[in-house]
Amino acid sequence: MNNRTFAMIKPDAVRNGYMGKILDRIIEADFKILGAKLIRMTKAQAEGFYAIHRERPFFQELTTFMSSGKAMVLALEKENAVSAWRDTIGATNPAEAVDGTIRKDFATSLGENAVHGADSDENAAIEIGFFFTNSELISNE
Ligand code: ATP
Ligand code: MG
Repeated sequence: MNNRTFAMIKPDAVRNGYMGKILDRIIEADFKILGAKLIRMTKAQAEGFYAIHRERPFFQELTTFMSSGKAMVLALEKENAVSAWRDTIGATNPAEAVDGTIRKDFATSLGENAVHGADSDENAAIEIGFFFTNSELISNE
């Protein structure tokens, strides 16, 4: 399955009023939205979601931030969705993100960088499953 990815509009972007503008970017880039919901992660959920980073020095900062407010999770569909979405969001550090990317335009800092994107097809499937049941993914328009 290389046509689905998992995306999140992170708490900084929701707090800063960019949720609608980021949804516009998603639609303009021709992703189909299969599922979307507003969530607020607990600290434990954030630790589970980012478990791959648990040994990193920024793990506490990251999971505290990710559980600090509302976020929007999305399951997206497009050809080569994982790489297409990572191209749309730009580099992890907004200072290095190229013009026209979401992080360049809406990120706050390296730690609070507006959006998440799955980094592989395998992780996309795992992350979609973390937040959505199959019946919540709507592929017909
Ligand atoms: P994401 O997984 O959120 O899409 P990414 O894949 O571009 O981001 P990762 O290396 O997976 O980058 O890091 C996960 C998240 O951890 C980053 O998006 C950022 O919010 C945070 N992060 C990464 N490096 C640092 C750092 N040096 N200091 C603080 N936070 C960081
Ligand atoms: Mg990552």
